[in-house]
Amino acid sequence: MKMKRNIHLGIVVAAIILLVASWTSSCSKGGGVNVFSVEDDIKLGKQLDQEIKSDPATYPLLDETAYPVAYSHILRITNALLNTGEINYRDRFEWQVKIIRDDATLNAFCAPGGYIYVYTGLIKFLDKESELAGVMGHEIAHADLRHSTDRLTTAYGLDFLLSMALGKNSSTLKDVAANLALLSYSRKDETQADEYSVKYLCKTDYEPNGTAGFFQKLVDSGQSGKTPAWLSTHPAPDKRVENINKKAEACGTGQAFETRYSEFKSSLP
Ligand SMILES: [Zn+2]
Repeated sequence: MKMKRNIHLGIVVAAIILLVASWTSSCSKGGGVNVFSVEDDIKLGKQLDQEIKSDPATYPLLDETAYPVAYSHILRITNALLNTGEINYRDRFEWQVKIIRDDATLNAFCAPGGYIYVYTGLIKFLDKESELAGVMGHEIAHADLRHSTDRLTTAYGLDFLLSMALGKNSSTLKDVAANLALLSYSRKDETQADEYSVKYLCKTDYEPNGTAGFFQKLVDSGQSGKTPAWLSTHPAPDKRVENINKKAEACGTGQAFETRYSEFKSSLP
């Protein structure tokens, strides 16, 4: 009896997997199946973006009309990265950038669907535009390679697939968006995002190893222990510096744009 039940369950599982596979538009670059559609990434990101905008106590956004110069700087960097010809969802994702006014936080993140957030703490910590471009490239890579929904697929597993199959998709998506921020990327995703940051920067005027400059500065300033959660997954910062520099060797040199960057910093409150 037991065996028969297991076989039956096996058939049900296979049917669900088939259903999901037929309805999933893409496989992740990491090789695993991502059960979310590209539309789901966009919906999730939009949901998260709305939550951020409605919570100024946690996310004090720098006002765009009050600080147009700061936004012109961050938009220049964003557009340089997005226009490299290397972004899969360049035209499909939203790709908006916002500055969060919080000098104590060394962070940046990009929600699925291309909603980029950069903290003033990170901008002020760095000295070169190429370094910020590197970190932003890393975050853009997570979104463009759809790492968040990869993670969610792993985290939610079959139960989630079932709830989707039962048509509870939209309400579940809302809950999922709330949990997105709690998930950290895998080591493999981190390494891949580092490599893609080099790939993007290679196609710009920036030093291709800008991201390494950021990690090096974390190590040098003794702040690697205070590394935010999004960076605290392995590999260790010094190992990442090595990997990024190695990857960047193949694509020549670029510029740091320090003068322009100091003007950007001066434009912040
Ligand atoms: Zn990352």
